[in-house]
Amino acid sequence: MSADLEFTVEPNTQPASDDQRAQTLANPGFGQNFSDHMAIATWTRENGWHDARITAFGPLELSPATSVFHYAQTIFEGMKAYRHPDDSIHLFRPEANAARFAKSAHRLALPELPEAAFLDSLRKLVEVDRAWVPAGGETSLYLRPFMFGSDPFLGVRPSAQVTYCAIASPAGSYFANGVKPVRIWLSEEYTRAAPGGTGAAKTGGNYASSLLAQAEAIEQGCDQVAFLDAVEKKWIEELGGMNLYFVLDDNSVATPELSGTILEGITRDSILKLVTDLGYTVTERKISIDEWREGAASGRIREVFACGTAAVITPVASLKWNGGEVQVADGNGGPVTGAVRSALLDVQYGRTKDPHNWMTKV
Ligand code: PMP
Repeated sequence: MSADLEFTVEPNTQPASDDQRAQTLANPGFGQNFSDHMAIATWTRENGWHDARITAFGPLELSPATSVFHYAQTIFEGMKAYRHPDDSIHLFRPEANAARFAKSAHRLALPELPEAAFLDSLRKLVEVDRAWVPAGGETSLYLRPFMFGSDPFLGVRPSAQVTYCAIASPAGSYFANGVKPVRIWLSEEYTRAAPGGTGAAKTGGNYASSLLAQAEAIEQGCDQVAFLDAVEKKWIEELGGMNLYFVLDDNSVATPELSGTILEGITRDSILKLVTDLGYTVTERKISIDEWREGAASGRIREVFACGTAAVITPVASLKWNGGEVQVADGNGGPVTGAVRSALLDVQYGRTKDPHNWMTKV
């Protein structure tokens, strides 16, 4: 039955009023307001996936013994729906999120939700809540599909019951007052992911374990934390929630290669193609922290930027560590960062042609 799992739509009988929704959309912030509906489906070892519905957004009732609370068997995705100038609504590369969700599920010993069912749930959720997709600026409807072990059982084993859920949250412009370059703190004490671990999966534990390093970054007056590989503590991996790109003085572009311990960002992958379209050569390779420090100091590295769904592309102003700090060029980003950012946003917001067929109309 799970091969053709389809979500049935049960409309919310008490949706927000037009006024309430308009008020929320006028100032949506991030991750604090939710649309009228959610997608939900259940998997059991006996019956596979079933009971797939789009229903009223609301609390889940869970036993305190629910396995995810104890053993963190959980995965999630993050993606956005964009309103185009003609008021049509589009998802950006949703099949890439579906594939990554399936890979994460495999790593966390969760059942695979058929990719068609993942896409069906999101298309129907956005369709029924299309009035919740904000218009104007760099606003969007942020989508958060997730899955967790929901068996009320304290034994350590893959959960015999699993819940899939997707919620939608209107999001304002990440940078309301123009793009702001970020200062990065280098975490030398904490690592994010070890070989053979869960670094390439989008699972809650990776984020829980990054929070102390992120708190250290804030204490140091920085915005984000950069992690090194866990073995040699030499190679740049990624930020707590974004991948990194470097622009060199010969106009080539480089990004840390996929190591099995970093998240395979969909923005990162898209930028590989966009910078090639823009005429730069791009390489995926190992980049050492010394190359960053020395390259920023000598001018060999001209620009550094971070990328991910939430903030799209963010210039990196400087790298700080215990004992020093080096600014990247004038600390304000640069032309390649700006060009890639515009190229990506133009596709996402339907302001230009979509040469790679990345957008899916809802
Ligand atoms: N790295 C990590 C650890 C992340 O959480 C994210 C956000 N999903 C990214 C990179 C960027 O991935 P994407 O471009 O798919 O949002």
